[in-house]
Amino acid sequence: MAYPKPKIPIQPVLSLESFNLNRDDGDVPSVLHARHAKFVTSGRIAIAMALQQMGIGKGDTVMLPAYHCPAMVEPVIWSGATPIFYKIHPDTSVDLNDVQGKLDASVKLLIVAHYFGFPQDLLKISDFCNQHALYLLEDCAHCFFGKYKNKPLGTYGDYAIASTMKFFPVYEGGCLVSDRHHINLSPLNSAGLGFEVKATLNTLEKSFEYGRMKWLQKILFAPMWLKDFIWKSVKRKASLGKVSIGPGASDGGFGFEAKWLGKQSAFFSRYLIKHVSRARIVSERRKNYIILQEALSGLPGCRPLFSGLPEDVIPQVFPLIVNEPEKIFPILKNAGVPIIRFGEFLWDGVDATVCSASVDLSRHLLQFPCHQELRAEEQAWMIAQIRKVFLSI
Ligand SMILES: *Cc1c(COP(=O)(O)O)cnc(C)c1O
Repeated sequence: MAYPKPKIPIQPVLSLESFNLNRDDGDVPSVLHARHAKFVTSGRIAIAMALQQMGIGKGDTVMLPAYHCPAMVEPVIWSGATPIFYKIHPDTSVDLNDVQGKLDASVKLLIVAHYFGFPQDLLKISDFCNQHALYLLEDCAHCFFGKYKNKPLGTYGDYAIASTMKFFPVYEGGCLVSDRHHINLSPLNSAGLGFEVKATLNTLEKSFEYGRMKWLQKILFAPMWLKDFIWKSVKRKASLGKVSIGPGASDGGFGFEAKWLGKQSAFFSRYLIKHVSRARIVSERRKNYIILQEALSGLPGCRPLFSGLPEDVIPQVFPLIVNEPEKIFPILKNAGVPIIRFGEFLWDGVDATVCSASVDLSRHLLQFPCHQELRAEEQAWMIAQIRKVFLSI
């Protein structure tokens, strides 16, 4: 029994308003403030490429948070290194005592995630890594934007990775950045014409699906055969009939496919990342988060994970701790409410004996979108659905 598709967009979709030419985007802090950046096809591929840059592989150990998604672990397994999972506190901050207790000579790298956009204590963590001669990788999949103590997130670690689809209206994309090290890579290749077309058409299609840019839809897709026609001829030309041409992540999957290593994010995605308004992304996300916080605080049966929105945080989603998720989740999903469940599936062996806070979050934390492309009426509808459910149980 599959749930219906969300009635409002779970991820940012492209609209004309995405490009706001009146705003000054110059100094919006983001991972792109790091000196070196490469645009690839997903965050997980960026993790694998970071491991390659650090020369991490067989015989090495990588410390990962017990609260994670499989996409963070798969590249480590692919590299041949062994993952070990460290504890986090119930507020998602890294438990450095636990990390310390698990260190041995094989540990080369500490990966930390800034969950939902909320930064870890990077001063303490980078000191710790220096002291113990560990590499630090900042997982900025949830914080393309934002800063910590006046420095953009992603510029503290040896490397950082981000997942562009989580913040921009694009079909695929991730980036690998470093403020400290030159990134040693042969030039990235396009993943092919089929991929470029798919990345473009899927971005537009998602947008049309949610009623954005109807005028463009009329112009482009009125003859519905047009898309099929383009698609078929591309497939024929590139003889891509048999292979999947999306990087796992884009389809919401957890797969890791090494064939995406060294491939560049699609031209259309890179174009959009450059040209949509970053200032709007930042201000709309903060605004939407605060609206959700005000509307959902104090409801019975749930509470926001964080008690407020610190000034420098640009949230990815609104995380809500739910007492009885097995009851609430299906009702909301059946109503078409978009829900993200980061960390729903933990790596084999990660249980309450490894980290009880992670297991609790994995089970009880639901996340609702606060992205910049939610319209006021869509957000109001979502809030009404959520309030109704909690008030009726
Ligand atoms: C989504 C995510 C990733 C992986 O990014 P993809 O672009 O989906 O490959 C890595 N880390 C975290 C914390 C994520 O949420």
